[in-house]
Amino acid sequence: AKQEGKNTYKFFQKSYMKKSIERLILASDLRKAIENDELLLYYQPKFSCKTEKVNGFEALIRWDHPKHGMISPNCFIPLAEETGMIVHIDQWVLYQACLQLKEWQAQGLKPVKIAVNLSMLQFQQKNFLNIVRSILKETGIDPSYLEIELTERVIMDDPEIALKNIKRLKSIGVQISMDDFGVHYSSLSYLKLLPLDRLKIDRSFLQDMLANKDDQTIVKAMIQLAHNLEMTVVAEGVETIEQYNFLKSNHCDEVQGFYFDKPLPATNIIKYIS
Ligand code: C2E
Ligand code: CA
Ligand code: CA
Ligand code: CA
Repeated sequence: AKQEGKNTYKFFQKSYMKKSIERLILASDLRKAIENDELLLYYQPKFSCKTEKVNGFEALIRWDHPKHGMISPNCFIPLAEETGMIVHIDQWVLYQACLQLKEWQAQGLKPVKIAVNLSMLQFQQKNFLNIVRSILKETGIDPSYLEIELTERVIMDDPEIALKNIKRLKSIGVQISMDDFGVHYSSLSYLKLLPLDRLKIDRSFLQDMLANKDDQTIVKAMIQLAHNLEMTVVAEGVETIEQYNFLKSNHCDEVQGFYFDKPLPATNIIKYIS
């Protein structure tokens, strides 16, 4: 047993070492990724339940790693947050999304909104509002085409700064969505304090919704809650027509998910806005 313990320990040491070395390498790769043009944005369409037409896109980051291929944000956003690189990356995302809007406008395509995900670190930068303003100014994008998605984590970490920044963003005309609603915190009190435009129901509530009455009740309640607070509601992770029909008949405003389309490179979404 002693021997075994020692081996296990050695094994742990080794795999731990290997993991931390891999992380170090990945972190240094990530540092170079921006300069090397390895980051890119995919866009997932959001549809209005009323018109069944696209009324915006969510920008989702991808990393086209020279050795590992396309890496999902779940694999590198946490690393970027721990190392602080996220501030740089989120700025790049904001800029890139605005450039994309400008390009679509120049091509005479239908005007649509782009929603961008921001991390807590980015949102709590002192000069955050100036960054947004200068990006909008440089690209010449009307702020009403930009939407910012925040998670409850971003807001609850420092509600005071969050409220201040949300109010400032709203005052320049940027729209704000509450992302992944209902997943992390149960505090509803901030909902009435924050001037949010949109509430996104997390896809975990949709997964078993059709088989699970409780999930149906929760989804219906979230839609009503949002409407009572004068917010629009988006359901994310819609994968089947049955889910869509349920949401539509319960007055959900917008839907997003694989049933409609997955996140796509910019060139593949022109069909939605021409
Ligand atoms: P999120 O903001 O909740 O984004 C939705 C995620 O669900 C996306 O994963 C999207 O591809 C996926 N999705 C959309 N429809 C469906 C569906 O019908 N079924 C399923 N199973 N999944 C669906 P993705 O692109 O891998 O992004 C994961 C997370 O990474 C995002 O979750 C967001 O929190 C974060 N992220 C993505 N881009 C950025 C970014 O530019 N900056 C920051 N800070 N975070 C980002
Ligand atoms: Ca999001
Ligand atoms: Ca989400
Ligand atoms: Ca989610």
